[in-house]
Amino acid sequence: MKKWRVLLGFGSETGQSKSIAQGMVDIASDQHQICAEVFDLDEVDKQFKLEEEPIMVIVTSSTGDGEPPSNASKFWRKIRREKNPQYLSHMKYTVLGLGDTNYSNFCNCGRVLDRRFEELGATRFYPSAWADDAVGLDLTIEPWLEGLWPALKETLSKIGNPTEASINNLSESVTQLNLTSENKPTVERQISSSNKFKSDIDNITYSSNLAELTILTLPPKPQHSLLINLIESSEDKNLPSSDIHYHHSILTRRECLTNTDAIKSVMSVDLQLSEDEFMFEAGDAVKIVCANDDNEVHLLLKRLGWLDKASHQLDISISPDNTKKSAKIPAHIPPLCSLQYALTNCIDIRLSPRKNILRLFVDCTSDEDEKRRLEELCSKEGSEIYIKYILEEHLSILDILNHFPSCKPDIAILIEFLPALMPRFYSICSSPLDDTRRITFVYSVLKFEPLNGRTYERFGVCTNWLNKIDIGTKVSIQTRISQHFRLPLTLDTPLIMIGPGTGVAPFIGFLEHLNLSLKSIDGFDVNNLNTWLFYGCRHRQHDFLFEEQIQMYQQMNVLKHFFIAASREENYPFRYVQDQLKANGNELANLIYNRNAIIYVCGDIKVMVRDVRETIAHLLQEHF
Ligand code: NAP
Repeated sequence: MKKWRVLLGFGSETGQSKSIAQGMVDIASDQHQICAEVFDLDEVDKQFKLEEEPIMVIVTSSTGDGEPPSNASKFWRKIRREKNPQYLSHMKYTVLGLGDTNYSNFCNCGRVLDRRFEELGATRFYPSAWADDAVGLDLTIEPWLEGLWPALKETLSKIGNPTEASINNLSESVTQLNLTSENKPTVERQISSSNKFKSDIDNITYSSNLAELTILTLPPKPQHSLLINLIESSEDKNLPSSDIHYHHSILTRRECLTNTDAIKSVMSVDLQLSEDEFMFEAGDAVKIVCANDDNEVHLLLKRLGWLDKASHQLDISISPDNTKKSAKIPAHIPPLCSLQYALTNCIDIRLSPRKNILRLFVDCTSDEDEKRRLEELCSKEGSEIYIKYILEEHLSILDILNHFPSCKPDIAILIEFLPALMPRFYSICSSPLDDTRRITFVYSVLKFEPLNGRTYERFGVCTNWLNKIDIGTKVSIQTRISQHFRLPLTLDTPLIMIGPGTGVAPFIGFLEHLNLSLKSIDGFDVNNLNTWLFYGCRHRQHDFLFEEQIQMYQQMNVLKHFFIAASREENYPFRYVQDQLKANGNELANLIYNRNAIIYVCGDIKVMVRDVRETIAHLLQEHF
């Protein structure tokens, strides 16, 4: 049977869109006889030509302030510059955008691509969708995929690209699991079969409404394509992956900025850059390449019974039985490394497992009750439970394995399906005018207790690593250049900077930059500055970050207006930065309406940024 051809382009920063797009290629081929070619969007004009493609499906995330991911920026520039309104009139398309509603400009890249394709004459053959990581991507992706295949087949049959496939024979994308009366679970059986399940006390292993269902809709089982052998080796040869360029730096200072009574400790660190070119400006962020916690890796190896194989070298190849079109040896695993190295440095073992992993775990589980529960957790019917108890509680792969003791996955599953360990971002709070070879940033130390399904104590991945490494340790870094989080060119523009907690970091960078500009730029007049900083801590005696520096900027007249909130101090009238914003509402509204002030907000994106935005909107209405 001849197969249909569809172009699948992905824009991916962290690997999510890439893995979704690659998974789609396999489903297309295995279950729908559709031949999809998958490429980075930036491979346009090298691997594919838009002028020649009749059908395109785009899967893309956004990065920064909604900008295209790094492998999609060339693609975006190309279609943005295109002048011919009929340029894509031959094309049918749809977009799956990935984003997080906690961040501003949700799914912006997907949305602008979608709009631009329409402007250039392309026709959407199936509604584009915007998947929200805040509630679980699969909630949108699953139903979207379900509808995509029939829509694709219909479109392909209309455009007559090739003709021999018989659409009627094609199977559905979602497997229906029919439970026979034999394996139909009952509450009694769940409890009596073993003591592993703690009935309704344990939300991960049991929920009565799901246990009673006789039909579950499971996601398609991902196909393996890798063959992994573990080779005993006396040498510890770990050659790092060379496909991504990182700059090198050395940790030269680490200091705690808070006192012992602080609720969260905040650390400040300096990295000394090596001689290679590393350019940054005030407002930029630095990406830190980190490693998983040794103890967590040890627990995972132990749980999987692989401790004695930890130092074995991974020999990864494409399996001779592979039928996956997208089969590739993962680029984030170096060609020569041990199992321990891969789990420590290359693979994200902390992210909550996606449903496709849970689906794979089903077949690696011997206990029937555990098997059934894993099916429930990855099923469409179990979506709410999956989101509430796995995603929202940030359960890791190790937590899941601890809850399902009879699950014994193969090494290949973890290597092939777990995402790459991505570098973490921190705002730089130093200025290159001070030292082009030193960057300073801060982070708070987060501890997660073993509660709510989490089976072991843990800290933030990168901050824990930064806390543990010795001074003098090499740290690989990249910059993330901010498109919008920049000082304006005209220095008399009023700046309203709002940054509670470590969110103040980039503003310290701004103020330092302005302070040093006074000395280094001819004609720079401090009287032209109109700077406002709204900062929030919990207790001014315990966690007032950068106190001395802020006072110095005030004395130098670089910081004209400073307001502090203290959320846990009794009798202090300003709990949150919003209270200080309200107290200065009239003046702020005037600056915004009449002086084109720029408002910068940095910090907890989930709640604070939303609340600050609402407060400012109210102020503007009130003082209009
Ligand atoms: P935090 O936990 O955000 O707390 C800082 C202050 O904000 C506390 O006084 C807190 O009060 C208060 N707060 C809580 N909810 C608030 C709300 N709805 N509105 C206004 N204020 C609120 O501090 P953090 O641990 O330093 O975290 C800062 C956040 O900034 C993190 O989400 C981090 O990812 C982000 N960030 C960090 C950097 C960096 O370079 N390190 C850069 C950019 C963004 P209570 O807790 O007492 O209620």
